[in-house]
Amino acid sequence: IIVAVARETAPGERRVAASPETCKKLTALGARVRVQRGAGMAAGFTDDAYAGAGAQLADDTVATLEGADVVLCVQPPAAATLTTLKTGAVLVGMLAPEADAARSDAIVSRGLVAFPLERLPRTTRAQAMDILSSQAGMAGYKATLIAAQLAPRFFPMLTTAAGTIRPSKVLVIGAGVAGLQAIATARRLGAQVEGFDVRPETREQIESLGGKFLDLGVSAAGEGGYARQLTDEERALQQQRLGEHLKTVDVIVCTAAVPGRPAPKIVTAAMVAGMKPGSVIVDLAAETGGNCELTRAGETIDSANGVTVAGPINLASMGAVHASEMYARNLLNFVSLFVKDGAIAFDWNDELLAKTVWPTSVQPSPHGAFGKGG
Ligand code: NAD
Repeated sequence: IIVAVARETAPGERRVAASPETCKKLTALGARVRVQRGAGMAAGFTDDAYAGAGAQLADDTVATLEGADVVLCVQPPAAATLTTLKTGAVLVGMLAPEADAARSDAIVSRGLVAFPLERLPRTTRAQAMDILSSQAGMAGYKATLIAAQLAPRFFPMLTTAAGTIRPSKVLVIGAGVAGLQAIATARRLGAQVEGFDVRPETREQIESLGGKFLDLGVSAAGEGGYARQLTDEERALQQQRLGEHLKTVDVIVCTAAVPGRPAPKIVTAAMVAGMKPGSVIVDLAAETGGNCELTRAGETIDSANGVTVAGPINLASMGAVHASEMYARNLLNFVSLFVKDGAIAFDWNDELLAKTVWPTSVQPSPHGAFGKGG
């Protein structure tokens, strides 16, 4: 079989879905790997490195994807590209099929077997394939660094001849994968760090990283280790207590999310108006609407009272080398579930395959359209 990796085309996307290391391992599974020239360049992987790992290089997208049995990607390919794939081809990556009608139509009409990895169940066995976690780690790290860069203050406490500088007080809202990495990074820079989440189990995780748990007296654990939406009363209580607290904070890193919903609005315009001038907010939730009311995706603005509000997008791509290394390993581990000895065979009793595949009705017989080869 042929596993193909085309160059990403989304603006600003620097990551790549396979590394030379994972190409070698895909080859060991009996696949032939085809990589478009330049696909890994922005992630630090040269064409020579891929060729050295046994990959065949192709000149353009069409030549890369032609006849491919498995296509690995970071961002969803354009609908026009999907219609060039062979019927029954397997697609693995961040596919967001429901976000774009042309894309979902192309997947269905070509009979593609799509595995949008953002649908992967978050079980212990799935951890090695969990792209949301690996990419959120990089995003949380970069969010803190952007905050440090924008802040007109030091993060650490400094004792200097010009007097003592007090450490910055950083509040991280949302202590999932990205938030915990943001907390760890802010701690390493020497800031005084607080974390806040509606899932009570995060208290211990925040404290284990040297942060302080900000207790606003609201707890909303949902299903599958995620948060649920807050009730109106819970939200009002959270807002009032948070507003008071933010008057003392220098930096906020926002990472709160509820799966399948717009980002919860937590920091209101009124709260920002109550903050000290020179404070900084970096809103990692910008792409899904932001945790702060003033956030504009892709922009950095100054509020009327001198608070900087940044809404960076695709932070994982900023750390393309390590983000791609992790992403590529996640994909390799997932592909290993159905590629063995150079052939594709789906075990639909495996919940990682059955719950990730899209459309959910597509569970073709393992002896169907998927032949051996390569
Ligand atoms: P996420 O990106 O969906 O959300 C980020 C954080 O925002 C979560 O911690 C959530 O509780 C928090 N949040 C939501 N609404 C909030 C509000 N109103 N105020 C404050 N915080 C709010 O989550 P994620 O980082 O992808 O994952 C969350 C958790 O899922 C992890 O910490 C872990 O427990 C679990 N998880 C399990 C696995 C696995 O076992 N394979 C993998 C990843 C995550």
